[in-house]
Amino acid sequence: MPGNVIDGKRIADDVRTELKPRISKLAGEGVVPGLAAVLVGENPASQLYVKMKGKASEEMGMAHWTIELPGDVPEGRLLQEIGRLNSDPKVHGILVQQPLPDQISVDKAVSAVSPLKDVDCFHPVNVGLVLIGRPRFAPATPSGVVELLTRSGYDPSGRDVVIVGRSNIVGKPLAALLMQKGPKANATVTVVHSGTHELAAHTGRAEILIAAMGSPRFIKADMVNKGAVVIDVGINRVRDESVKSGYRTVGDVDFDAVRPKVEAISPVPGGVGPMTIAMLLSNTVYAAELALRAAGPAPT
Ligand code: NDP
Repeated sequence: MPGNVIDGKRIADDVRTELKPRISKLAGEGVVPGLAAVLVGENPASQLYVKMKGKASEEMGMAHWTIELPGDVPEGRLLQEIGRLNSDPKVHGILVQQPLPDQISVDKAVSAVSPLKDVDCFHPVNVGLVLIGRPRFAPATPSGVVELLTRSGYDPSGRDVVIVGRSNIVGKPLAALLMQKGPKANATVTVVHSGTHELAAHTGRAEILIAAMGSPRFIKADMVNKGAVVIDVGINRVRDESVKSGYRTVGDVDFDAVRPKVEAISPVPGGVGPMTIAMLLSNTVYAAELALRAAGPAPT
């Protein structure tokens, strides 16, 4: 029997449905959660991601804005724009789409976003809160992975989890989430990377394997434990002349080869991607709730 395919689209729809009463409650207080995306340059993948996030916000009745800046924008101008969004009360969440061009320090851009509007959870303060187990915002892709697992019936507690990749966006915060003492966590986590010797020895014993490396179909069947649960975070465009566009989107896992060997596997597309967007919307709603609470009761 081939492994179950974990349906990220369906689970993301569930997460979004659960947000609706919270959005209605905010509407009752005269608040529309608003997400601003800052897009620098003309990277087609970034343009697509920002468009998808805007569309998803719109479908939920949330406000969204895309601030487009040229690829050669000076760093100061970008920081100024982030500052403007920080002080705009209609904007509850701000994301600065990465990658950023070389003249811009990612650290400076990420740190310029108000921690209270940092719905990507990239600000050092929010990263620290995740690490100590008191997250303000759930880092979107890592918490999307956690929701994908737990809502499919795969509780990571007590499991041997191996994460391939140690980026600040995926691998590290995901490790931090999964190792916490608490629900939806409590796993034994190993993080492997390009400096790891015998990578396959680690991936091959994982009960839950999470690939977040950005290398198309890198994880082959012989690198995976029989009966494992595999989550594929990777998004890679590869040439494929059999499709009209000439490109196909694939993950970091060789899906067709790995599926027969495992208990369950998330596909690309349709796995982690929709979850990332759902978690981002969830964080934006939470940011709007935080802002409302901070404003206190309306004067009578
Ligand atoms: P990065 O390039 O920042 O990090 C990749 C990580 O994988 C690094 O830690 C790198 O190791 C490791 N790695 C790369 N190649 C190998 C290898 N051959 N062996 C062992 N380790 C390796 O990528 P991101 O974390 O930002 O993204 C990873 C993937 O996830 C990408 O495909 C990206 O598009 C996708 N992604 C998907 C999202 C979604 O919503 N589904 C959201 C965010 C990302 P080292 O540190 O040693 O260099």
